[in-house]
Amino acid sequence: MKTLTRFKELFEHPYQAASEWKLHNKGKVIGTLPMYFPDEIIYAAGALPVTLFGNDNEPITLGDKHLMTNACHQVRSSFDCLLKGHFDFLDGMAALHVCDQVRFFFEVWHLDHPFPFFHEMWRPYKLHDTSRSLLENELIRLISALEEFTNNKITPEALKNSIDIYNRSRAMMRKLNQLRSEAPGIISAQDMVHVVATALLMPREEHNQLLEQLLTELESTASAEDKRIRVIAVGHPCDPPDDELLQLIEDQGLVIVDDDFFTGGRYFAEDIDAKKDPVKAFVDYYMDSIPCTTYHYADNWKGEINNTSPYAEYIIDKVKKGQAAGVVVLRLMYCDPLDLEFVLLKNRLNEENISYLSLFTESGTGSSEALRTRIQAFAETL
Ligand code: SF4
Repeated sequence: MKTLTRFKELFEHPYQAASEWKLHNKGKVIGTLPMYFPDEIIYAAGALPVTLFGNDNEPITLGDKHLMTNACHQVRSSFDCLLKGHFDFLDGMAALHVCDQVRFFFEVWHLDHPFPFFHEMWRPYKLHDTSRSLLENELIRLISALEEFTNNKITPEALKNSIDIYNRSRAMMRKLNQLRSEAPGIISAQDMVHVVATALLMPREEHNQLLEQLLTELESTASAEDKRIRVIAVGHPCDPPDDELLQLIEDQGLVIVDDDFFTGGRYFAEDIDAKKDPVKAFVDYYMDSIPCTTYHYADNWKGEINNTSPYAEYIIDKVKKGQAAGVVVLRLMYCDPLDLEFVLLKNRLNEENISYLSLFTESGTGSSEALRTRIQAFAETL
């Protein structure tokens, strides 16, 4: 399909669209680290936000000389890309503190390779009522830093317009996800990731046009009955899962009908409420967000570990709604938030009699025979 091929090309050359945009528009490009950075605010300032993912196709060489090797692939690989000059087109950098590794890494980055614009935004790991004012102040601080850097006033109208564009994007992604759930196989798991990830790499209006085109193409495609077993894929909180691994899963008689990747279902799960005051709408987005491994649900870790976990309930709900027979958990190596939450997730999946397969992933793990055997064995149990 023509549009899917275009998404694949964009995914394989992640920063080409942003570099071209910069050349033609003479605008500023600001790199953001996944996840949850309010890109809409950068867009409203007339700059282009680009999410910086690691690179699965390139071995980490320089990055490992500067960072500990037990940091996650997203952190090590994106730092490697920075040191190799792949991010030289950027005018600035921004990140939300989603985990300790991002926090630490961002400090190293700042010392090692400062950009003219460098902005850290705090988001408490543990949310309660006092977090609201902190988030509001952080958003206001971000807006004024961007105004100063870009020399553009971020008006409420510009913010609203930006939120509308991004909400439209997420709405179309949800529609695409719905199509895949209703007609499994209409879009492969890796194509789905390409569609979502590329939205984070290029001007959103252009991406929206492509996405609209794709939906039209898919809606007019008659899908054959897919006899593969429906599963949900979760994990990979920040960077996109390996293409080959996703294909390997779907080649073993399983079909992914929904996922919780940041470059997937997690990204488009929720909108920013365009009817509210924009800053308050972002605060609400963070305060009421879907359960995430990067939030600390303190009550679950007091004394004896109990088996309640908002994140696990969220995944179980996905399994039920997706009529899935099981869950494939892609555990990015050294992702501490996911590892901690996985303990509760697996307990709850066991209690609900939901089968799961837990796979540790690292760059290039996709093609291994051992993985194939494990996935085949899992498929046979379903
Ligand atoms: S949340 Fe996990 S994958 Fe993302 S930066 Fe932190 S440790 Fe890495």
